[in-house]
Amino acid sequence: MSKIPLPPAPGADEHVSLALLNSTVLLPGEHRADELGTPEEATDWLIGHGLVPARTALLAYCQNQLAGLRGDLRLLFAAQVGGEAPPQRALDGVNRALAQVPSAPLLRHAPAGGFHRTPAHPVTRLVEHAMAQIAEDAATLLTGDDASRIARCEASPCDRFLLRTHARRQWCSTRCGDRVRAARAYARRQDRDPA
Ligand SMILES: [Zn+2]
Repeated sequence: MSKIPLPPAPGADEHVSLALLNSTVLLPGEHRADELGTPEEATDWLIGHGLVPARTALLAYCQNQLAGLRGDLRLLFAAQVGGEAPPQRALDGVNRALAQVPSAPLLRHAPAGGFHRTPAHPVTRLVEHAMAQIAEDAATLLTGDDASRIARCEASPCDRFLLRTHARRQWCSTRCGDRVRAARAYARRQDRDPA
């Protein structure tokens, strides 16, 4: 089972891009959990995050696309955390997701209400729309005031991203924090009472 046994990292409930980044995590024991492990799980993930309608049929082609976007976004967020330039191909991938759907609301006319504008939302392009929303969220986060709060969990091997809720926050969850504190306590005991 690929469910991730951790609560959402700080910021992941508000930012779907963080939720996607954290849909895979390396757990202690070098076991990688992945919520996008199968086409069914990838479709469920989109439904669970309100990105496609609740009863959407299996989107067989969404797993590769979502996992690809996740890979690109992880490179961009890692670059942000490390203060480095991201790989161009990752930027290109996210820009493709942004540009895949028309962003201008289209002009429509209804007999009762006259002219109005609504977003173009062709039902045949559900996955593209979902990916554009995720990419939009990431672009907003990376260019906004909160960009400096993006951090990576420091409790190895966990590699989740989070938004720091205070300056010294180092872990994505209390479970990760407890693991690091336990390891430090163990190391201190080893120092004190060498075998
Ligand atoms: Zn963690």
